[in-house]
Amino acid sequence: MADCIFCKIVRGEIPCAKIMEDDHAFSLLDIGPINAGHALVIPKRHYPTLFEVTDEDLAACVVMARKVAAAVYKAVGASGLNFLQNNFRVAGQLVEHAHFHLIPRFQNDGFLTSWPGKAYAVGEMDKVLHKVLAEL
Ligand code: AMP
Ligand code: ZN
Repeated sequence: MADCIFCKIVRGEIPCAKIMEDDHAFSLLDIGPINAGHALVIPKRHYPTLFEVTDEDLAACVVMARKVAAAVYKAVGASGLNFLQNNFRVAGQLVEHAHFHLIPRFQNDGFLTSWPGKAYAVGEMDKVLHKVLAEL
């Protein structure tokens, strides 16, 4: 998409700290890192969210993400790494071009280490499971 910031990066119209690219995917350092070394992997084609990404482009992104994750993890001497992906504003997505975050983690780095799990009411989990299965 013409005015999408990640499409501009892929086209070389704005600079970035590029890590690698292939025919389908592109990886760069995030400009506002959770921790130094925080990287992104994006499909080269424009897709607003994960839901639109083709299987082929998704596979390329995930394979590249694992490679970049291993490099980032070693390069910054991390103790852990999160592989995250946000869809839609309510889930924290700011750039509307699907992307994956690779976030190196350190002891007491202040980022999330766990989330508070809610409890299902009696019978609710089964109902939700059936609704999900009906959408497959
Ligand atoms: P999200 O909130 O999942 O949409 O994440 C978007 C990410 O893109 C944020 O972590 C931003 O710091 C990052 N970002 C935005 N613009 C750029 C840019 N020009 N180069 C690198 N990373 C960027
Ligand atoms: Zn785009």
